[in-house]
Amino acid sequence: MNTGLSIKVKGIVQGVGFRPFVYHLAVENGLTGWVLNSSSGVEIQVTGPQAKLDDFAHQLTQNPPPLAKIESILVERVANPPQSFSFEIHESVCNLEDFIPISPDISICDQCLHEMKDPSDRRYRYPFINCTNCGPRFSIIEDIPYDRPKTTMSAFNMCPKCLAEYLDPSNRRFHAQPVACPDCGPQITLEQSGHIIAEKEQALQLARSALRDGKIIALKGLGGYQIVCDANNAESVAQIRGRKKRSDKPFALMTSQISQIEKYAIINDQERNLLLSSQRPIVLLQKKSGTNLPESIAPGQATLGFMLPNTPLHHLLLEPETDFPEVFVMTSGNMSEEPIAYKDDDARQRLESIVDLFLLHNRPIHMRVDDSVTRVINSRPFILRRARGFAPDFLPFHFSSQSIFAAGAELKNSFCLTRDDQAYLSHHIGDLENIETLQSYEEGIAHYEKLFRIHPQIMVCDLHPDYLSTRYANARAEQEQKPLYFVQHHHAHLAACLAENNHLSNDPVIGICFDGTGYGSDQAIWGGEVLIGSYRQFVRRFHLKYVPLPGGDLSIRNPARMALAQLWSCGFEWQPEFACTQALCMEERTVLRIQLEKQINSPLTSSMGRLFDAASAFIGIRQHVNYEGQAAIEMENIIAQGENSYYPFKIGQSDLDPAPMWERLIHDYLSGIPQATLAARFHNSIAQLVLRVCQKVREEESLSKVALSGGVWQNRVLLTYTLQLLQEADFEVIWHSQVPTNDGGIAYGQACIAANVHQITES
Ligand code: ZN
Ligand code: ZN
Ligand code: FE
Repeated sequence: MNTGLSIKVKGIVQGVGFRPFVYHLAVENGLTGWVLNSSSGVEIQVTGPQAKLDDFAHQLTQNPPPLAKIESILVERVANPPQSFSFEIHESVCNLEDFIPISPDISICDQCLHEMKDPSDRRYRYPFINCTNCGPRFSIIEDIPYDRPKTTMSAFNMCPKCLAEYLDPSNRRFHAQPVACPDCGPQITLEQSGHIIAEKEQALQLARSALRDGKIIALKGLGGYQIVCDANNAESVAQIRGRKKRSDKPFALMTSQISQIEKYAIINDQERNLLLSSQRPIVLLQKKSGTNLPESIAPGQATLGFMLPNTPLHHLLLEPETDFPEVFVMTSGNMSEEPIAYKDDDARQRLESIVDLFLLHNRPIHMRVDDSVTRVINSRPFILRRARGFAPDFLPFHFSSQSIFAAGAELKNSFCLTRDDQAYLSHHIGDLENIETLQSYEEGIAHYEKLFRIHPQIMVCDLHPDYLSTRYANARAEQEQKPLYFVQHHHAHLAACLAENNHLSNDPVIGICFDGTGYGSDQAIWGGEVLIGSYRQFVRRFHLKYVPLPGGDLSIRNPARMALAQLWSCGFEWQPEFACTQALCMEERTVLRIQLEKQINSPLTSSMGRLFDAASAFIGIRQHVNYEGQAAIEMENIIAQGENSYYPFKIGQSDLDPAPMWERLIHDYLSGIPQATLAARFHNSIAQLVLRVCQKVREEESLSKVALSGGVWQNRVLLTYTLQLLQEADFEVIWHSQVPTNDGGIAYGQACIAANVHQITES
């Protein structure tokens, strides 16, 4: 006697080979019925003997395809199932208001790589080989349900052979939407000065010999253009730096094999897993000493950012060969500060002055996605830039709420949209400081809202009135007549950390929120904050003592000014022996002193990032920075091992006063103690300060859970030492992993706060 099952599967189940998997499973078990993609997931009807149905349902949950992420399975028994004689894959059905999560782009799988290298395969050396388990996804999807006509592959008609594979349920390319071959799919071309100089294999070979000769190439990657050259060619590296107007920021590197990375960097097991993961992110690795890579790749860094090829084209272009370079610069295709180029014409225009040649192809990129940047801290992945391979995977959203739009911060912006129990934290957008990035922000929001069918009913943004993200949220809330919430920057950091770590209640914790800049409730620039709170509210229990930020941005770019401002505010002389004193000429110092004394254009700040800048300048490491965080990073990189001493802070009613620290630091500096030791003692001092304030709050409030958030925690030395101290003192410590600790995580925190605050205001 046959019965039936009606099954609905939700999660990432489209574009990951789910229907072929279901098909095989049904046929193996001798079941009849159908499977289809709907706009809410995958729907299945199966009919057959009871035991076989049970097997089917069991295997469905136990052995799904590797890239599928099943969120829920609803199984219902059907008493009188419709009779059919076979199992079929039906047309997709689309309900406009339903939505399903979309898979991020996935790096080429081993099977496809194997075929690509097999001379007898019809896709031998074809740069766009892919299958149901690999290939472009998010970057080529224009709308849902995920089917070929709704991707940028719609312009390519499948040849009979590809179509046969696409339609054959036993084929591993069954319903692989980007399926293609040399006869019917995208092709590469090589361009010079606006002219096509070669196509297909010849384009590839010419591009390779250009790389061998030290030329610079713009390469159309998965989510945008990249700039490539031989990393061992110091002249080419210097040329990219000059032409991109990017003076010190490190360049990412790519090699075709992990063994080549090992020549330049130390890799532990977790780092290896991350490098080889299907996301293929950039992984920051400890640089090996004594290698011959030009210092200009990553000036002043103890780490190098490496990634492995993520597309077949990368594999072909960088394929190892005798006398061929083995390490390549693989940096984003943009002028510094602008978003990465992803449209061909735009790339031709913007990258023309940077590169010698363009290696491009005719498969359009629909959504721009940068390379992701990660590292491993305390054996856990630590995502610094969440983009290709990770977005648009959703994060858990623990609060029942109408859909929320969270605008994010200004620097390293990402936005967040929620629907039900899912939070779509967008890919990295960039610094919202120019019109191009703002445009990319608005396009991104529109795309996510369309793909995930989200119509936000609640808006939330930063307290800072001048952030472009704040203005956008403001204008939109007004236009659409939606409630708008303003969230303090460090409160958002705290909430992001709590939510990522599944803190579900509104029980308060100790939030150590350390970063460079965030607009405070008192309009000062916050950044060295000890908060007590959770989603609904927070109290600012302690903060770094306010100091003036003379000239605002001028002091951010010139840590020497910050060091002098710190010394002035703690009552110490600017002695002529100090490196930071020498960094400014007499006239500059005179103006600075007047600025400080008369409080001219000198907003107050409690920023921990600025205290790191000041220390770096004072110790003599960096007086002027070319990118955010440079002074602190270079100080972290020279730290002496095994140094345990630290300097005291004065803990006041609410102030954390660094004067005693400066007194000791000045003494040590004048005694000629090495920079590496001073840098270590400074880091130890901050970790010890955190321990002491946490102990104080525990005594007062009986709280023992501590959340560490904010960009300063990207500092690995500081984070690991602070964790050790707090854990030894029996604190429960949470910190970031999947959500960036920097401002890339702000939007997620804003959304969590808005959901909680809206609940109160409504009730
Ligand atoms: Zn594949
Ligand atoms: Zn074909
Ligand atoms: Fe921040």
